[in-house]
Amino acid sequence: MSKTKVAIIGSGIAGLAAAVRLQLRGFEVQVFEANTYTGGKLSEIQLGDYRFDAGPSLFTMPELVMELFSLAKVDPGKYFDYIQLEESCRYFWEDGTEFTAWSDRTRLLEEAENMLGEPQARLQKALDQSALLYDTLAELFMFKPIHKLSTWTGKKALQAYSRLHKLNFSRSMDAQSARLFQTEKMRQLFNRYATYNGSDPYQAPATLHIIPHLEFNQGAYFPSQGMHSISQSIYHLAKDLGVIFHLGQKVEAILLDGKKARGVKFNGQTHAADLVVSNMDMVNTYKKLLPGHLAPKRLLNQPKSSSALIFYWGIKHSFPQLGLHNIFFSDDYKSEFEHIFKKGAIFTDPTVYINITSKHKADDAPKGAENWFTMINVPNNTGQNWDEFIPQARAYILQKLSRLLDADVASLIEAEDFLDPRRIESRTSSFAGALYGNSSNNAFAAFLRHPIQHKTLSNLYFVGGSVHPGGGIPLSLLSAKQLDEEYI
Ligand code: FAD
Repeated sequence: MSKTKVAIIGSGIAGLAAAVRLQLRGFEVQVFEANTYTGGKLSEIQLGDYRFDAGPSLFTMPELVMELFSLAKVDPGKYFDYIQLEESCRYFWEDGTEFTAWSDRTRLLEEAENMLGEPQARLQKALDQSALLYDTLAELFMFKPIHKLSTWTGKKALQAYSRLHKLNFSRSMDAQSARLFQTEKMRQLFNRYATYNGSDPYQAPATLHIIPHLEFNQGAYFPSQGMHSISQSIYHLAKDLGVIFHLGQKVEAILLDGKKARGVKFNGQTHAADLVVSNMDMVNTYKKLLPGHLAPKRLLNQPKSSSALIFYWGIKHSFPQLGLHNIFFSDDYKSEFEHIFKKGAIFTDPTVYINITSKHKADDAPKGAENWFTMINVPNNTGQNWDEFIPQARAYILQKLSRLLDADVASLIEAEDFLDPRRIESRTSSFAGALYGNSSNNAFAAFLRHPIQHKTLSNLYFVGGSVHPGGGIPLSLLSAKQLDEEYI
C-alpha cells in the first residue's frame, strides 16, 4: 500500500513539529519553506563576532520539545540541551528600584518584600491563583481542541464549570492585578504578562493571569546553544527521520479538488498530497494560497496582536548589573498600551526589554562585550511611517537605557541591525507583522481563533502561532500535538 503523502507549508516551529509527528506516523512528509533556512521566527542572525537569536527569547515548557525526541525514541542529548534559570528576569524602574525574579520561591518572596514592599503573602496568593487558572483551563484551552464538543463534556470541563466564579472572566487583567497586589510596581510587573501573547493588560481578561504560572511556578529555561537550537534540533530530527525539505520554495497555491486539498503549487510545479498542513499565517493562507475560496471573515478580521521593534546591538562593554532577561519599565504603562493598541503609534517612554544570551553562551559576543537584543512592543503594521518611527524609537530607547545604566550606550554600539513589523511579515508571512496572530483583548478571543482543521476542506489543516491554541513556542508546539493526537 502506498504511503499517505503530506505537504507542509512552512518550517516554523509548528511546521517542524508537525513534520516529525506525521513522519513518525508512517506518512511521507515533505516541507516547503519560502526561506533558504528553517525555523521561521526562531532563526538567528550574525553581525561580525556577535550572534543573536532573531525572535523568541523566553523558553518555557521545554517538555513539549523533549516529547518529540522521546516519540522518535532517540537520545535527546544528541540534538538538544537546556538549563533551568536561577532568575527569570531583572526589572528596573525610573526611580532606581531594581528587582530580580528569582526561581527559588523563598528568595523571590523576600526580594518582593525587600525591594518593592510587596507583602510576601500577596505574591504567594497571586501565584497560587495563577496555578489554579492553569489547572482549570490549560486542558481545555491549550491541550484539547476547543472546537470539539468532547472537550466541553469531559471531567476537566465539569471541574471548570464548578470553578467559573473564581476565574474572573469579566474583569480585566489590570483590574485583577490591582486587586492582587498592594504595590503599583508588582501590578505593573504582572500586567506585563499580557505582552507574552501580544495583548493589552487594560483590555485583556483576568484569565491571562494564567501566563505567570509558566514562568514562576513551572520555571524559565535557556537552551544551551541559544533559542535557535530549538528549531534547529527539531529540523535535524525531522531530517534524520526522512522528512524531505524544499528550502527557498514558496508555495503559491493550495490545489483543490472539490472539497479536498490535493496538493500545493510552488515555483510553477505541482506536488500532489493526501493531506496539506499550512504553517503559514492563517490570514495569509486564505488571502494568498486560497484566493476565491470562501474565507471565515469573522475569524480573519479579529484584531491582531502587537508587533515588535528590535535593535540587535553588539555592545563593546560588559554590564554586570544585567542578566539574560532585563526589563526597563515605562513610567506610564497605561499610555504605552494606548499608543500600541489604540493610537497605532510609538510611545516616548517605552518599556525596553534586553535579552543578552552571551551571559550564558559566552561565544555569542567577543570577550568583554555583550550581544543586546533590545526590543520594544509596537503596534502591528497598518501602514504607519516606520522609516520615521524607527529612528525616533531608537532615540527614546537610548535615552532611557543611558539614564538607567549611567552610561553613554550609543557610543558602545559597534554592530547593529534591526527587525520591524514590515520585516517580520516579509520574512515569515505573519499578517501585519503581528507576533502572535490574534490578540487576546477580550474574553472570547480564544474561541475566535481559527481551528486546526479547515471547516469544509477536510484534509486541510493549520498549525502555528496564528491558529488554536495560540502564539508563542509552547502553544505553537501544542497545535502540532493536537493535529497529531486529535485530528488525523
Ligand atoms: P513562524 O515562525 O511564523 O514561521 C512560518 C514559516 O512559514 C516561515 O518560515 C515562513 O517563511 C514559512 N512560510 C510562510 N508562507 C509560506 C509559503 N507560502 N510557502 C512556504 N513557506 C512559507 N514566543 C515565545 O514562546 N517566547 C518568546 O520570547 C517570543 N518572543 C518573540 C519575539 C519576536 C520578535 C517574535 C517575532 C516572536 C516571538 N515569539 C515568542 C513568538 C514565536 O516566535 C511564534 O509564536 C512562533 O515561533 C510561531 O511559529 P510558527 O510555527 O507559527 O511559524
